[in-house]
Amino acid sequence: MTRTRLVAGNWKMHGSLAANRALLDAVVSGLSGLRGVECAVCVPYPYLAQAAERLRGTGLAWGAQNMSEHLDGAYTGEVSVAMLKDFSCRYVIVGHSERRLLYRESDGQAAAKFVAAVTHGLTPIFCVGETLEERDAGRTEEVVARQLDAVVNKGEFTQAVLAYEPVWAIGTGRTATPEQAQVVHAFLRRKVPVETPILYGGSVKPQNAAAIFAMPDVDGGLIGGASLAAGDFLAIARAAAKKG
Ligand code: PEP
Repeated sequence: MTRTRLVAGNWKMHGSLAANRALLDAVVSGLSGLRGVECAVCVPYPYLAQAAERLRGTGLAWGAQNMSEHLDGAYTGEVSVAMLKDFSCRYVIVGHSERRLLYRESDGQAAAKFVAAVTHGLTPIFCVGETLEERDAGRTEEVVARQLDAVVNKGEFTQAVLAYEPVWAIGTGRTATPEQAQVVHAFLRRKVPVETPILYGGSVKPQNAAAIFAMPDVDGGLIGGASLAAGDFLAIARAAAKKG
């Protein structure tokens, strides 16, 4: 079966109105005519309005990098799913390792965010991944299964994207080999519906994208650093589009 192929940028806490304008213009014009891959950018909250205004009607989708598990209420500093919908987000990243590790987000919290997103028609890009210590201890499958099961146990993993992001490969320049990625993707594949796209994330660059995307269970990428340079992001999108 052919699954949706997706390349999503995670801008993290980078950008400015002026820099975003140039980046979005370049990505939109570079994507015109590219078939066979969906592309999206997940931008910081203050720039959702800018993304919505610039990207509406183009082929490039947009989304957020996090959201609250609560629907509304006294949660200072938080952003709800309804607010993301107000800005026509299609995607929201949920359970990114930086949220889990730096902000102590639990499996349960990530699962609650996932459910809130799906219930309200947003597509979560749900991230799982092990630390280097966990990999070295031979616990990769146990860790990603625990993170994913927290969601799967709450219902069908439908209308969602899964991303395997080994923590040791994020922002480090150290990528999983295509074979290492494939082993984990094949393991995850057995736990989600056959149509669920599974993205790889972790130091994907134009130089390594084609080899990673060639793996049978890799359906695209979640791209951090390289999504901030239009040329790199476009080269990665083209590599995904070429997958046979
Ligand atoms: C990420 O933060 O999701 C990510 C994959 O980052 P990078 O591509 O910079 O490793």
